[in-house]
Amino acid sequence: QLSKRLERVASYIPEGSVLADIGSDHAYLPCYSILNNQASKAIAGEVSDGPYNSARQQVRQTGLDQSISVRKGDGLEVLESGEATCITIAGMGGTLIASILENGKVKLESVERLILQPNVGAYNVRQWLMDNNWAIINEEILEEDGKIYEIIVAEKGDPLKLYQDKKDAGLLFGPFLLKEKNPVFRKKWSMEQEHWKKILKQIEESGQGEAVAEKREELAARIEMAEEA
Ligand code: SAM
Repeated sequence: QLSKRLERVASYIPEGSVLADIGSDHAYLPCYSILNNQASKAIAGEVSDGPYNSARQQVRQTGLDQSISVRKGDGLEVLESGEATCITIAGMGGTLIASILENGKVKLESVERLILQPNVGAYNVRQWLMDNNWAIINEEILEEDGKIYEIIVAEKGDPLKLYQDKKDAGLLFGPFLLKEKNPVFRKKWSMEQEHWKKILKQIEESGQGEAVAEKREELAARIEMAEEA
């Protein structure tokens, strides 16, 4: 049984995709997507020995060796050019996801859809997508086992249309999530806002100097942005 988080990620895989799941760990996502007839073939990429071996074992046990190729390597380097049509990268920080995409840019030519699930720092993912002409086509925010996750789905296209005059807020909160403002979104950002307020108070009580002033301004701006949202 797949987690709700990975099930939601899988729901955006187009039928007939050649899926590359990067940082696949147990290869649960590729196995699920083949068994559900979403992907026609899949590649599970892993950089670490332990997860790589778990992925190989899982694929063998599920009897899916013919449809899923498990490969060891860093990010998109496990892919041949033109091989994948859909890439999933889930369960990592946004900075790592953005750097995997940045380092593997040449492998993205054949890719029609990216499904990205940053645990933190979704801002960095949206910034990379915007800088590289990928337009977000859908977003989701969900809570599972007390943790809040964001899912960002993107295809090649004009990213600027999404943000218009609200670029800073759009990159931080997500253009679709900001419009929808569901209860999980409200919960996440009111918790973040409380956290920022605490830090701001600490800084105001103890700190001085230029760097502190800069941090104070940045925090105050974010608090205001969350207030507006
Ligand atoms: N994607 C699965 C999920 O969402 O449940 C597993 C997430 S797990 C927390 C992150 C995995 O990414 C780890 O198994 C780690 O070894 C792998 N990873 C981290 N950096 C990577 C990279 N540059 N290339 C490939 N895999 C990477």
